[in-house]
Amino acid sequence: MLILTCPCCGQTGEETEFHAGGEAHLKRFGPGSSDADFENYLFMRENPKGVHFERWRHAYGCGKWFHAARCTMTLEIFGTYPAQTLEPPKELCDTISQKRPGWSWRELS
Ligand SMILES: [Zn+2]
Repeated sequence: MLILTCPCCGQTGEETEFHAGGEAHLKRFGPGSSDADFENYLFMRENPKGVHFERWRHAYGCGKWFHAARCTMTLEIFGTYPAQTLEPPKELCDTISQKRPGWSWRELS
């Protein structure tokens, strides 16, 4: 069972209080983009064995969306942060790097 803390209202709860919303930090492609870029945006998702950034909604709380970083192998939650950010906070990346040597945040292209 995942225990998440909503960064918007500060409440901590079990994952049943939240709703998963898929991968975080997707680069969106729309009209005017190539078919390949649009196809990748619609269908291609990361499925890492390790650190993953996800969107979550505090469905039975404040109702707001936020991002969470967790390990898909151990289910450890590294941290949560507001959804209005383009990339994870540096402090969170530093925390993950300390716990998972060799890990680094991907560059958005
Ligand atoms: Zn909340």
